This record gives sequence, structure tokens and C-alpha cells, in this order.
Amino acid sequence: PATESKRLRIAMQKSGRLSVDSQALFASCGLKINLREQRLIAHVENMDIDILRVRDDDIPGLVMDGVCDLGIVGENVLEEESLQRQLDNHSFDYTVLKRLDFGGCRLSIAVPQEDEYQGAASLEGKTIATTYPRLLGRYLKQQGVNARVVTLKGSVEVAPRAGLADAICDLVSTGATLEANGLREVDVIYRSKAVLIQRKDLTDNKQLKLINKLMPRINGVMQANE
Ligand code: ATP
Ligand code: ZN
Repeated sequence: PATESKRLRIAMQKSGRLSVDSQALFASCGLKINLREQRLIAHVENMDIDILRVRDDDIPGLVMDGVCDLGIVGENVLEEESLQRQLDNHSFDYTVLKRLDFGGCRLSIAVPQEDEYQGAASLEGKTIATTYPRLLGRYLKQQGVNARVVTLKGSVEVAPRAGLADAICDLVSTGATLEANGLREVDVIYRSKAVLIQRKDLTDNKQLKLINKLMPRINGVMQANE
């Protein structure tokens, strides 16, 4: 049964912006992984570790529910899931072992190029499209702004042109996508990087020893990259 298996389970994004860097981090920590295409689980050949390759959105929940022991995910996705679970009275415990040096981006408010914007108050009564309704909701509440939040899982940047929203709140790294869609970044509401997280109730000695062996290697790799 799954509960008796003492192999350390690490969740990583299967394919996307965090996959290559996550894999590279594991490799530089000495994990020999056979990542055959389309496989959900990859066994590490030289350590008692299994790598689970999933959608990034599933990683916080897998760790918070104790189904995976460790996970690499963006703070934006992690914080959104935490806020959602707090509202749902669902468990949302985890420990951040390390803030990593990849996956950097910001969650920003953007408006059509020609629209005027004088701070958050300009959003009053407006409709804002986002994939991160809880992070945006928290920001609007802090700013004392009443706006309607529309949740879209994708194509957020086309929402204003499609007449679905007046503004958006979306992830930005270079700003090229915003520009291509006639939008202007006006406020940063959250700055994110990838983090390595651990489930709260991990007590197995063998697993804890393995983590204690991995952490100095991760720190070493990050120092070498500086
Ligand atoms: P999945 O199929 O796993 O759900 P996704 O399409 O939701 O993938 P990606 O676009 O691969 O996710 O982004 C994963 C994470 O990479 C983001 O949640 C964020 O933390 C980080 N990231 C870094 N730069 C950017 C960017 N410019 N746009 C979006 N995400 C970025
Ligand atoms: Zn996703």
C-alpha cells in the first residue's frame, strides 16, 4: 500500500516553465532520473525517491494533503491555493524549504494601452479577468476597491479586447505578451519565484535523512549559480 512506501515523493511540473529548471536542479543534486515521456511517476535510480510529474496547479494540494512529500511550484500558485483552502476551511499547511532561483515573475494589473490609470482606485466598479482570483481579491480588499473578478484559466490577456473585462491581472516576466495585446502594466501586486516545499507532518526518519542530504546540495548548486 502507498502509505507503507518509504520512498520520498517529489512533485514537479510535468511540462511548462518550471520543468526544465526543476529537472536540472534534481540532476545537479545527483539524482539519476529516467524521465520517459508521458510517465506520471519516474523512479530515481540511485536514491529512494520517486518523481511525480503533474500540472503545476496540483502541486500545492498534493503536498498540503500529504500525498507528496516535497514539491517545486511557483509561489503564485502556492499562495492562491492557500487562500482558497483557508476560505474552504481545508488544511493548507506546508513548510518552505528553499526559495529557488528560477521561475521568477510578477502578478500585475494591466489595462488597455489608451486607458488612464491613477492607482488602484481607477479599478473601482471595473471588471478584472485573472487566473488568480484569491490573490487579486486580497489586493483589492487591501486597497479598499470594489471590482468584479472574472476567473479565466487561460487567454486572460485577450479578455479586454474580447469585451470580457476592463482590465486583467496576469503573470508577467518580460511584458512582451501584454504589449502584443495592446495592454500596459500599471501595478505589480505579487512577486513570485519557484519554491521547494515540504509537507508539514513528515516524520519518517529515512525520508528526513534523505532531505537533510539533499538540502546542502541544493544550497551548493544555488551558490554556484550566483
Ligand atoms: P500546467 O500545464 O502545469 O498547468 P501552466 O500553463 O499553468 O502549466 P506555466 O505557464 O508553465 O504554467 O507556468 C508555470 C509557472 O511558471 C507559473 O505559475 C509561474 O510561477 C512561473 N512563471 C514564470 N514566468 C512566467 C510567465 N512569464 N508567465 C507565466 N508564468 C510564469
Ligand atoms: Zn497550471
